[in-house]
Amino acid sequence: MSLEFINVSKCYGNVQALAEVSFRFNPGVVGLIGANGAGKTTSIRLIARHIEPDAGEILFKGKPVATYPLHAYPIACISDEPIYYEELSVEEHFQLIAAMYNKPQSDIGAIIEQMGLQEHLRKLPEALSRGTKQKLSIGCALLRDFDLLVADEPFTGLDPKQISVVKDILKNCAASGRTVLISTHLLQVVEKVCTEFILLHKGRLKCQGTLAGIKGQFGISPQAGIEEMYLHIVGEPIQGFEGDG
Ligand code: ATP
Repeated sequence: MSLEFINVSKCYGNVQALAEVSFRFNPGVVGLIGANGAGKTTSIRLIARHIEPDAGEILFKGKPVATYPLHAYPIACISDEPIYYEELSVEEHFQLIAAMYNKPQSDIGAIIEQMGLQEHLRKLPEALSRGTKQKLSIGCALLRDFDLLVADEPFTGLDPKQISVVKDILKNCAASGRTVLISTHLLQVVEKVCTEFILLHKGRLKCQGTLAGIKGQFGISPQAGIEEMYLHIVGEPIQGFEGDG
């Protein structure tokens, strides 16, 4: 088992963001879905160890995540807001990450090409569009070594071509035996990328499994698309759902 939540609870003051959530999955690309406030970002932040659970345990490869020394916790994170240093150019970001993780120059070149950042190398983040900042942020996350990639709304701001590139990168990560967890509202975008889904609702686990498995569990037609399945289970539209406001 790659990643496992065992009865994980988390409150912010008197807001219960997660209530006794348990799920587990093997390497692959897993979609974490649910309405606003379902607890997706909280789950990602817990896995990334930005916050700690109030109760329960999170295991990676059978070991509590809290027991990994930070430098040996093989995780890469893509945040829903691009993360960058205002004073560093695009190229300098990659040089810095490469120096931190002892990565060769050839890896930098490969990431820059993959993310389509060649024409932006000398620019500071303030001169980049939102989508290009997101590409920079994703590129920096991918440059380090990792076994587990958690991505919170990674497609926000990307153009269709770049969404396709990032989807391929995530699939390749899984093909090489790594675990990818994507939190997203873009159901159609992840429908074909994810091998499994976890559906959270109001801080609780609604269901987990393959699309076919979840549809079977809820008596939903095998022909139903992911949005139809989602609406059937949750009973309310998801943000970003086609036709939603
Ligand atoms: P969205 O799709 O809107 O990003 P989400 O599924 O990622 O939502 P979370 O961000 O995990 O949901 O939030 C879960 C609950 O916890 C919500 O009720 C939210 O208002 C609350 N919450 C999240 N972060 C905090 C915080 N720092 N302080 C107080 N409440 C918080």
